[in-house]
Amino acid sequence: MNETNTPLVRARGVRKSFGDVEVLKGIDFEVARGEVSVIIGPSGSGKSTFLRAMNGLETIDAGSLKVCGDEVGYTFADGRAHEWTDKRFAQFRSKIGMVFQRFNLYSHMDAMENVALSLIHVKGMKAKDAHEIAREELARVGLADHATKRPHQLSGGQQQRVAIARALALKPELMLFDEPTSALDPELVGEVLQIMKQLAAEGMTMVVVTHEIGFAREVGDSLAFFDQGVVVEKRAPRELLTETSSIRIKNFLDAVK
Ligand code: ADP
Ligand code: MG
Repeated sequence: MNETNTPLVRARGVRKSFGDVEVLKGIDFEVARGEVSVIIGPSGSGKSTFLRAMNGLETIDAGSLKVCGDEVGYTFADGRAHEWTDKRFAQFRSKIGMVFQRFNLYSHMDAMENVALSLIHVKGMKAKDAHEIAREELARVGLADHATKRPHQLSGGQQQRVAIARALALKPELMLFDEPTSALDPELVGEVLQIMKQLAAEGMTMVVVTHEIGFAREVGDSLAFFDQGVVVEKRAPRELLTETSSIRIKNFLDAVK
């Protein structure tokens, strides 16, 4: 297999416990390069934990998880996460952009400085060059005119777009979104989904946890339903939404509609 058709994410039998509670119970999951992979499922089903594991924020207890060419997240018997140096880990992390429900912008910095920060710290870029790229990324998410505003001067939707620009600035191979619109007022959801749709059209590989079924149907290449730490079903969105035989999925879809 050459590099272009090797999946960007390949999870096999991924397991993870917190104390006595097994949260991931053998996750099998693949994401092809360029795929927009949407995940839905009830609260507590392990969606965020799986996303965090893909990003190396969480170790796994068993199985294998290969992301962007690296085997990640395995906890060795002696408890060490893995043998990576800090530098190696930073290299891995810079290949993956993550956007959370809460935007976590620095309140004392303007939008441009928020976006430029990791370019300066992770990539060691000069401030002037970093600010130039930050301006480009802000323009990409429609915020060219807001570069010098601080978070409190921006709406929630604009703040989330800054967070997306911040993730994009590192030129990631993979973007992970964990309920990116769940904290937003309803009228601000559309502008964020629009940016994500634009990214998808540009060919970005994305894994998106969301309750926005319309987005899943329209933009997703695949739709996975998580429940109690397993992937119940993963298939084309339209098929899963209309043809599933799973009672659990039908009940969930009725509840979020
Ligand atoms: P989802 O994102 O689908 O709502 P999560 O992955 O956040 O689910 O959580 C799955 C389960 O794992 C929940 O029961 C949650 O309470 C538990 N959990 C998540 N993170 C931790 C943690 N750091 N320590 C203990 N339990 C956790
Ligand atoms: Mg979650």
